[in-house]
Amino acid sequence: MNVAIVGTGYVGLVAACCLAKSGHLVFAVEKDLTKLEILKKGKVPFYEDGMDEILKETISNGNINFTSNLSLALQNSSIIFIAVGTPALSDGRADLLQVCTVAEEIIKNINKSITVVMKSTVPPGTGKIICDRFFNNSKYPIHYVSNPEFLREGKSVWDWYHPDRIVIGCDDESVAQKIADLYSDIDAPKEIMDVTSAEMVKYASNAFLATKISFINEISNLCELVGGNIDQVARAVGMDTRIGNQFLQSGLGYGGSCFPKDTKGLKYVSSSNGYQFNLLKAVIEVNYQQRTEAIRKLNRLLGDLWGKRITVLGLAFKPGTDDIREAPALEIIKYLADEGAIVRATDPMAMEKARPVLPLNTELFTDPYDALVGAEAVLLATEWPLFVNLDWATVKKQMNEPFVIIDGRNALNAHQLISLGYRYEGYGRSIRS
Ligand code: NAD
Repeated sequence: MNVAIVGTGYVGLVAACCLAKSGHLVFAVEKDLTKLEILKKGKVPFYEDGMDEILKETISNGNINFTSNLSLALQNSSIIFIAVGTPALSDGRADLLQVCTVAEEIIKNINKSITVVMKSTVPPGTGKIICDRFFNNSKYPIHYVSNPEFLREGKSVWDWYHPDRIVIGCDDESVAQKIADLYSDIDAPKEIMDVTSAEMVKYASNAFLATKISFINEISNLCELVGGNIDQVARAVGMDTRIGNQFLQSGLGYGGSCFPKDTKGLKYVSSSNGYQFNLLKAVIEVNYQQRTEAIRKLNRLLGDLWGKRITVLGLAFKPGTDDIREAPALEIIKYLADEGAIVRATDPMAMEKARPVLPLNTELFTDPYDALVGAEAVLLATEWPLFVNLDWATVKKQMNEPFVIIDGRNALNAHQLISLGYRYEGYGRSIRS
């Protein structure tokens, strides 16, 4: 099939390349001309494992075309995916401006009947609004489908081909089937439902995963008070197949482009519909507290932070990506800088993106060992294997007293670090040096 994908970010580019690899002819539309030039040269404008190979492959087999011209893509395609950003506004609402702009452009430029597939995450009820506002007034019939994306950054290509389910929201069964056929090479249940339910699946899934994280963080905080060890607790709790072992890692909490904005977005949808989603409010609040908890730990072990050298390992919101959106490290660094600490930071992939948004006096290092020279404390904010596997005996020789390590991801070997003489503190463990 001929498919247009509008937006070539983490989701749109994966969708474009994977559909092209599956044999569809793809027109990928990007309005950011710098990004477009990079893509046309066969390069990926962000870091994502496996993307380079798949992009090169699809360019060389001629199945993918990059353009800034939506009209051209529309002329050549019968299915249009919208995969643009839906960031959070300051009140938590999803900002639908990018989505609405594309919808408006579509009705201005079409010259035949098409199917529009919403890949962007939009709040439940948005499909109806978009159709009433734009598509129902089109000269040519437009079928609307909600097809939310569940991929994880860092594993997105794998996730595209191995989803737990493909959700298709459409009120017309034959159109839903056409979209299901697009994924015929992917062995996953195709769940067909109405548009609003499909939109809700995406929000409910992210809210539930965020709830798991905040829940285990609450248990973790309680473990610190009563003397338990969250690693052992979470492991055994996760062995219960009704619960499952994923998203039970205590620490700094969730960040990224999805969980923070989608939890806030769902909370907004709830309150604007007169419903108080109290559980979700608590999930968001607990997640925020986990970041301040890192500062509290540093304060307890270092005293006043003024003039203290603190190295933050990791800027990306998780390993395997250069995405810094809502990364806990950024907020913590700003706070530390405001308190007068001398902050150094390093990340194997995210430094370029982080540099413009960090306080100007943050010192950035390519080599983590350099970043740690003279530091009195280190905060592990992103558990890149590079950081977890540092030679901590060598690091200690370069650091200054009191050799504090705050393990914001409970990823380091606590016993080994304590035996090396570090003042180690993770989350939810009774082990303290
Ligand atoms: P992104 O910001 O990385 O990419 C969006 C792209 O769309 C940008 O390159 C932007 O320049 C482009 N764009 C915006 N308006 C355009 C227009 N009018 N014409 C052409 N291009 C345009 O966003 P993302 O992370 O890929 O997320 C896209 C959507 O998918 C969001 O709604 C997000 O919530 C959802 N989602 C993201 C993830 C993820 O892990 N990143 C996972 C699932 C769902």
